[in-house]
Amino acid sequence: MSTDPCLILVLNSGSSSLKFAVHDTGMRTPLISGLAERLGTDGPRITFKDVQGKRTESLPASDHAAALDAVLAELTTRNWIDALAAVGHRVVHGGERFTSSALVTPAVLADIEAVSPLAPLHNPAALLGLRTALARLPNIPHVTVFDTAFHQSMAPEAYLYAVPTELYRQQGVRRYGFHGTSHRFVARETVAMLGLEPGNHGLVIAHLGNGASATAVQDGHSMDTTMGMTPLEGLVMGTRSGDIDVGAVLHLMRTGDRSAADIDTLLNKQSGLLGVSGLTNDCRELESAAEAGHPGARLALDVFVHRLVRHIGGLAMALRRLDAIVFTGGIGENSARVRAMTVARLRLLGLELDPAANAAMVGGAGGVISSNAEGPRAVVVPTNEEWMIACDTAELARRATETGSLWNFEPELVQA
Ligand code: AMP
Repeated sequence: MSTDPCLILVLNSGSSSLKFAVHDTGMRTPLISGLAERLGTDGPRITFKDVQGKRTESLPASDHAAALDAVLAELTTRNWIDALAAVGHRVVHGGERFTSSALVTPAVLADIEAVSPLAPLHNPAALLGLRTALARLPNIPHVTVFDTAFHQSMAPEAYLYAVPTELYRQQGVRRYGFHGTSHRFVARETVAMLGLEPGNHGLVIAHLGNGASATAVQDGHSMDTTMGMTPLEGLVMGTRSGDIDVGAVLHLMRTGDRSAADIDTLLNKQSGLLGVSGLTNDCRELESAAEAGHPGARLALDVFVHRLVRHIGGLAMALRRLDAIVFTGGIGENSARVRAMTVARLRLLGLELDPAANAAMVGGAGGVISSNAEGPRAVVVPTNEEWMIACDTAELARRATETGSLWNFEPELVQA
């Protein structure tokens, strides 16, 4: 490690959790990472993970400040605290205001607050984490990286719902898309891996994890994506339904005595792989159960793949050319079965699976899994959102330091 401040602290603050990672600029694997959980409830605890292994401790208080203090104490013990150059914060929703990552200023804080009604569960938690970190580390730059920013390149025909346009103008009802940091990272990696031209390529990226979305990327820009105004739209996910006829939802509300809150829980927490299988949201467990003949597990995987293939086909039409279908996320990077089922259904695009390559691509390995000599390829590309956040943070912090555009936060602005 150099003696210049070169460490980036990446924070991902949820309502009851704080995920963190410390990256040395230039290194993709974090020096240390971990998760503080059960914040705001009984038994708050924090887990640290590094090359030596894992360690869990209970926290003295049940809030984000206690969690961050534990992280900073750990960095102090390791003599890394003075090497911190900047802090990068993941923020779910940047609305239309943020088309890229931003150096945190009082105006940026106010803008994040202004778009928070669009993500009432996520943005307030991110702001809490951000303010806590600003109060603890006021003398280094902080950067926000938004899940929605990459998709701000979508054209109106891709982002508008066909509802009266005043709903868009007055209430922001439109498609925003999420997982943007992952899609942006994976697009870059794919271009490098396949030797594509940065200014002339077309990809459909399937980020398949507990949350799942697919994005059409042309020349480095998002053209269309499956998630919408919220992360509920599109693909089948672990516990989220993805696309569903709103007519069906209205029917349930009218006839089933369900409130809006009930429907929210139903579609976000009880649906998807879990709802269809009646068993679990975990793809690995579903695969074992399907292997053992569990009909619900088989059906859930079939519905998951059918929806995915349907969206891949649709997204491909947003592109001028198609170079690759890219698999990433926990399922995309590890499930040879889901990838094989998907590629088998994409013959119309000219894809043929290389079974040996597909079987080999697990646990962080990336590469081509198709055998066709012509046409688009199928590839696996591991995502690394934390690293992308660290890169954006290092770059914006460097520019801010070079141009002397640092700032003073009024204490009340950073009060958590
Ligand atoms: P993520 O949200 O990206 O962490 O992905 C979580 C999902 O990836 C869960 O459904 C896991 O079951 C799935 N997953 C992780 N490893 C495997 C594996 N080896 N085979 C199948 N699915 C996996």
